[in-house]
Amino acid sequence: MSTHAAEPVDIAIVGAGPVGLAAALALATGGRSVTLLGPLATPRDGRTVALLDSSWRLLAEIGVQDALQEKAAPLTVMRLVDDSGSLFRQPPVEFRASEIGLDAFGWNIENADLTEALAEAARARPGLRLLPGLVRTIEPEDDAARLSGEGFAPLRARLVVGADGRNSQVRAAAGITSRDWRYPQVALTGIFEHARDHRETSTEFHTRKGPCTLVPLPGRRSSLVWLVDPEEAEVIAALDDASFARRVETQVQSLFGAMRVVGSRGRIPMGGLSVDRFAAGRMALIGEAAHVFPPIGAQGLNLGLRDVAALRDAVIGSEDPGAEPMMAAYDTARRTDVRLRTGAVDVLNRTLLTDLLPADLMRGAGLLALSRIGPLRRLVMRQGLAGGAQARRRAG
Ligand SMILES: Cc1cc2nc3c(=O)[nH]c(=O)nc-3n(C[C@H](O)[C@H](O)[C@H](O)COP(=O)(O)OP(=O)(O)OC[C@H]3O[C@@H](n4cnc5c(N)ncnc54)[C@H](O)[C@@H]3O)c2cc1C
Repeated sequence: MSTHAAEPVDIAIVGAGPVGLAAALALATGGRSVTLLGPLATPRDGRTVALLDSSWRLLAEIGVQDALQEKAAPLTVMRLVDDSGSLFRQPPVEFRASEIGLDAFGWNIENADLTEALAEAARARPGLRLLPGLVRTIEPEDDAARLSGEGFAPLRARLVVGADGRNSQVRAAAGITSRDWRYPQVALTGIFEHARDHRETSTEFHTRKGPCTLVPLPGRRSSLVWLVDPEEAEVIAALDDASFARRVETQVQSLFGAMRVVGSRGRIPMGGLSVDRFAAGRMALIGEAAHVFPPIGAQGLNLGLRDVAALRDAVIGSEDPGAEPMMAAYDTARRTDVRLRTGAVDVLNRTLLTDLLPADLMRGAGLLALSRIGPLRRLVMRQGLAGGAQARRRAG
C-alpha cells in the first residue's frame, strides 16, 4: 500500500447522508475535485423532512428541486395545539405563510426520496467522485489530511468535510469537543393515508411527553412524528399497523378522520449534541456531525443545509479550500445560528416535559401572546424560517 498518495483532491466529504450529498453537489463546481466517501443507503423508516424556504432554494441551486417537486407537499399553515393538560392551556395558534408574504413555509418530503434524488444528481455531476467505503483513519498533514479505510485506496484532501453524523470520525480526528445528551423520549414515525384533506396544514400537538405532529404529504397523506417516553414507545411500536393507525387517530383527535398506515414505521431515540467549534485544522463539520436535536419545528436538516451554504460561501474561489482563513470564516458563520436553534428547541422540549407551574404558565402566556399579537407572530415565523426567507410565489 502506498503511503504517499498522489496530489490531494480539493475536498473529501465523509458521509453520504442528505447533508453530505448536498455538500458534494454544492462544492463540486468551478473545476474543483470533490470525493464523497460513504455508503449510499436510503432506508425507508417513515421519516419525512420539512424543508423550509431557504433549503428549497439551495436544492434548486444544486439542481435537484425539479426531481423533488412531485414528491413534496407545501406547508402553508402551521398549527400548534396545546394538548398538555396544563392549567394554562390556550386555544390553538395558527401561523399562515401568507402573513409573511410566502406561498409556503416549506415542503415536506420523505427522507428516502430526498436522499435518492440527491444521490442521482451526484452520480451525474462531473468532477464529483463517489466512493462507497467507510473511512477509518484521518491523519492531518501540513497541506492536507490523509484518509484511509475500507473499500477505497488512501487519498489526501486539502479540505475534509465531516458529514458523518452523530458519531463523527472527522470530529474526533479534528479534536473538536462535543457535548451530547439524551432525552427520555423516542420518536415514532410513519406515513398515513386519511379520509379528509390536510389542506396543506401541519399540526403539532404539544403533549406532556413531547410533540405529536402530522405533516402533509401529496394527496390525502401525512407523516407522523410522535415523541413518547421509551416505555410507551415499546408498547405502541409492538402494535400491528391497523391498531397503530387507530391509536394515532385517537391521539390526533380524529383530525383527518380514519387513518391507514402506508409503508414502514420507525422508532428513533431522542438526544442532542453540540460542538465547541465547527472547524479545526483542515476539517469542517456539517449536519448532524455538528448538531443534533429533537424534531421540533423542522430545524435539523434545514440547519444542515444552511451549513452547506455557509461552507460553500466560505471556500468559494479559494485555491486552497482548507486554508485557515476559510475555516475561520466558516466557523464564525455557523456559531450564532446553530447555538440559537439548539437552545430554543431544547428549552421548548424541556418545558413540555416538566409539569412545573411556572413553565406551564410561561408556555401558556407565550402561546396566548402568539395568537393575539400579529407582529410577534410574524417575527416568530421569520425567525423560525431564518436563512433569509424572502417573499416568493410558488411556481405554476
Ligand atoms: C423523526 C425525525 C424527524 C425529522 N424531521 C425533520 C424535519 O422535518 N426537518 C428537518 O430539517 N430535519 C428533520 N429531522 C432531522 C434530519 O433528519 C437530520 O438532521 C438529517 O437527516 C441529518 O442528516 P446528516 O446527513 O447530517 O446525517 P446522517 O443522515 O446521519 O448521515 C450520516 C452519514 O454518514 C455516514 N458515515 C458515518 N460514519 C462514516 C464513516 N466513517 N465513513 C463514511 N461514512 C460514514 C453514514 O453511513 C450516513 O450515511 C428529523 C429527524 C428525525 C429523527
